[in-house]
Amino acid sequence: MAAKDITRHPCFNKETAGTCGRVHLPVAPKCNIQCNYCNRKYDCVNESRPGVTSGILKPFQAAQYMDKVLEKEPRITVAGIAGPGDPFANPAEVIETMRLLNERHPELLFCLSTNGMGILPYLDDIAALGVSHVTITISAVDPAIGARIYAWVKDGNVVYRGEQGAALLLERQLAAIRGLKERGIVVKINSIIIPGVNEGHLVEVARVTAALGADIQNMIPLKPTQDTPFAELPEPGRDVVLPLRKEAGGFISQMTHCKRCRADAVGLLGNDQSAALCGTLQACAK
Ligand code: SF4
Ligand code: SF4
Repeated sequence: MAAKDITRHPCFNKETAGTCGRVHLPVAPKCNIQCNYCNRKYDCVNESRPGVTSGILKPFQAAQYMDKVLEKEPRITVAGIAGPGDPFANPAEVIETMRLLNERHPELLFCLSTNGMGILPYLDDIAALGVSHVTITISAVDPAIGARIYAWVKDGNVVYRGEQGAALLLERQLAAIRGLKERGIVVKINSIIIPGVNEGHLVEVARVTAALGADIQNMIPLKPTQDTPFAELPEPGRDVVLPLRKEAGGFISQMTHCKRCRADAVGLLGNDQSAALCGTLQACAK
């Protein structure tokens, strides 16, 4: 098979956002950390943010759904897994989904979005399965700041809190960047801008991750969400976001067109069809 054109990913390459689409396959319900901005309880086709999906698919269902999605939207070039939890809190499901996609749609680019906590044992597997793009969400490179962002992190059956948990997560995340780059995988860093918590620290996140070889950073303004510790924080506006991107851009390319997609997003970035395909997804999930 001809080598894949890795530029055909609309999130990593803005120029392709009008012609190339992505689908998120919601096969990963569990998470291995708890971010203070995350609430995965709301499940509504009218809500657009990470963590939200109209259903959970088993790997074989995800492969069937992929077939149907491509019939309806042939411009899809990327199949990704972005939750609604974390791919590596559900590694068996994720690896099996990627294996099935490789069999049925080897022409697609494969993409994973993770917090980085559990990815290290699977680096060789995902490289062998042809995953070309990985996003790691890193919103702090200082455990004292990380401790304000993460309520807990789980390693196997052990739960760590506070700076100890944040330090363990950070260690894994930084090792993941190195390991992914050693395997030739494109790495994006998602960083959530959290007012009063980390906005003064995000340029340092850019500097540290760029030094390890990360390719692009996506600074995402916090979307304050009901029933979370950060529910009452303000949503950062352009006055906060733009200068941060400008300064961080001195270290690493900046993504400027993120749509803060759902865990079952599908279509072009500017024309999400998850509501239209919700019935198809739910039929596959039965
Ligand atoms: Fe939610 Fe993702 Fe954080 Fe897990 S890693 S708690 S799914 S935002
Ligand atoms: Fe791309 Fe942002 Fe949507 Fe992820 S959330 S698929 S980076 S546009």
